[in-house]
Amino acid sequence: MSAPASPTSRGEHRDEVDFVLTDDGTIITLIRVRGASAPTRGPVLLAHGAGMRAESFRPPAIRSVVDVLIDDGWDVWMLNWRGSIDLPPVPWTIDDVALYDVPAAVRHVTGVTGSDTVKVIGHCQGAAALSVAAAAGLVPEVDVVVANSVSLHPVLPFFARVKLDVLLPMFRTGEPYVDIAWGDGPEKGVARITRNTVRLAHPECKNPGCSMASFALGSGHPALWRHENLDSATHDWLEHEFGKIPLSWYAQMSLSHRAGRYVMVRGYEALPHRIADAPPQTDARFTLLTGDENRAFLPSSQHRTFAYLDDAQPGRHSLTQIPGYGHADVFVGRRAHVDAFPYIRYALGR
Ligand SMILES: [Zn+2]
Repeated sequence: MSAPASPTSRGEHRDEVDFVLTDDGTIITLIRVRGASAPTRGPVLLAHGAGMRAESFRPPAIRSVVDVLIDDGWDVWMLNWRGSIDLPPVPWTIDDVALYDVPAAVRHVTGVTGSDTVKVIGHCQGAAALSVAAAAGLVPEVDVVVANSVSLHPVLPFFARVKLDVLLPMFRTGEPYVDIAWGDGPEKGVARITRNTVRLAHPECKNPGCSMASFALGSGHPALWRHENLDSATHDWLEHEFGKIPLSWYAQMSLSHRAGRYVMVRGYEALPHRIADAPPQTDARFTLLTGDENRAFLPSSQHRTFAYLDDAQPGRHSLTQIPGYGHADVFVGRRAHVDAFPYIRYALGR
């Protein structure tokens, strides 16, 4: 598809916000984003990562995935699932998001648009929740899943595993959330100790939010992006795009990395205890993406899910490892519209 004469930018987005009540009584939100003209193609739902929010998909200083989707004619819906930093903090797990938030969001979008199908794009734990919901047969309306970084098989780097094993007991002293915004907060006690420890461990960057994000979500310096992929405006902006991540999720990740796949922890009947033990209950076509320098979830995370999907439905799914990229720079990188988004555009349009 050729580029539009006048590409959409953040200042031209017009947002409509819908509140959605899930079956377990949680309020989540959907932001429908319009550009200068009405969409000509079907709905696309975006699900953000852990400790982030819908807004994280559209850094103001770059050509964002939202701009690109609008210019391609898609009807863009950004989801704030219950882990969004724009919603009141709750001790969420992937179980809750996959069973309640994803189906509620998909049904809201089909209800409002009249479309029978929805294409979904997820980053990090948004990608995992979408993938788990699809594989469990909870969202038959979803015909395309684009998942960045991780989908069904989280593989955590060594130091991230140490964090899970060492920090979990520490935080069990009563602090229910790791707050990435601790980077610049006035807190005392555990928050202050954590913040100062993180500063010592991450001398590579003076931005406290960047260092806390590295600490909380991965292993490496920095863990979530390669600095050379970010422009300075986006790097500064990212400091305010992260917030609380509950220990309930860290506990689930600890179990899941040991099992080599997501393990459900709530005991909901509609979800299998161990994801990917049985064939996927969906016809959706998966496009799995990851940066080859991903230090939050190793690229082998996506390789394992691809092997599982391809075994069940040979030749239907794809896996792309993007050279020179990490975890979140696949969406917030200054050249992501050139290096990463073409894979997303192809997945949606084929
Ligand atoms: Zn940094």
